[in-house]
Amino acid sequence: MAALATATLLTLGLAATPAAAQPATTPDTLTTAVPASLVPPRPSPDDVRRALTRIARDSDGRVRLGVIGRSNENRPLRLATVGHGHTRLLYVTQQHGDEPLGTPAAIRALWALGVPDTAWHRWLRSRITLDIVVQANPDGAVRNQRYNHDPSATGDYSEPGVGYDINRFHNPLTPIADNPVPESRAVLRLWQRTHPRIVVDYHMQGRYLQPDGEETTASLLWPTSPLVEAGAVTAGRQLAVRNTEAMTLAGANVTLYPGGDYEGIARNAYGILGSASLLVELSDLPEDQVELQIRSAFASMIATAQGAADRSLWRIDPARADRIPARGPALPGIQSTLELDAA
Ligand SMILES: [Zn+2]
Repeated sequence: MAALATATLLTLGLAATPAAAQPATTPDTLTTAVPASLVPPRPSPDDVRRALTRIARDSDGRVRLGVIGRSNENRPLRLATVGHGHTRLLYVTQQHGDEPLGTPAAIRALWALGVPDTAWHRWLRSRITLDIVVQANPDGAVRNQRYNHDPSATGDYSEPGVGYDINRFHNPLTPIADNPVPESRAVLRLWQRTHPRIVVDYHMQGRYLQPDGEETTASLLWPTSPLVEAGAVTAGRQLAVRNTEAMTLAGANVTLYPGGDYEGIARNAYGILGSASLLVELSDLPEDQVELQIRSAFASMIATAQGAADRSLWRIDPARADRIPARGPALPGIQSTLELDAA
């Protein structure tokens, strides 16, 4: 209860905040302000384009749009940026085309941080610059498939005749010119241009039980590659604690994601490069809980931005990450298409 009370105070902006004059707000008020018609839960690349264009217009240019590359089918890999502060953040959604719900959450977050112009919003935007790669795998999104589209794909982490698993091709030890995946190259180059302090990568998983018998709605993990330096691991653990608090307040049941050590996974790769890095996996829940899942990811995005802006993230005791429970077994009798998915 003590942890929850502290989280509530932080979310309400009531906890002591040194130096920075931070007007109070809450993710809830941000959520209710976002227009319901902004974006569908599983947006097509055209839906993403339309929503981002509307946000850029309605924000009077406070949300800036860019393109960081092209997919193999020549679809733009879209970047949206809000804020002009010193601390840079990078969120990535939908590297796996069949894991869509981080994308509507990101579009809502861009609206919520960029369109209103209160004192809190101006404060936040003066402290951070948030880059979001929205729907990093548009070719996979239009096919509802995990992989990118590359019929010539061969070798490890490919599905021959289909494409590559984008989230195995962020290896910072591989020369970028040798990387066969345009989506991964684009994100790596964006990292090299911006050196973000924080990278959060949004995915979806199957359905799992928690140790207490409840269903897990989301799982998180920081970098686990042995190549990641201790400071980046600590920062990733602090990020995990803050995200667990924020998502729990939004109704989520959060567990640890049992992820691997491979350095080509974005979670590990950007940790190796020195960012505070976090994987967020939303469970593939039934249709009536899709809105809960989008709100949960939205809460994660806002809390990370706020925690970076007021630096409260870096005052969190990283040992609290050890209290996040391990993910339990798969929910019996449920066959999710994401069941075999690994990040
Ligand atoms: Zn995934």
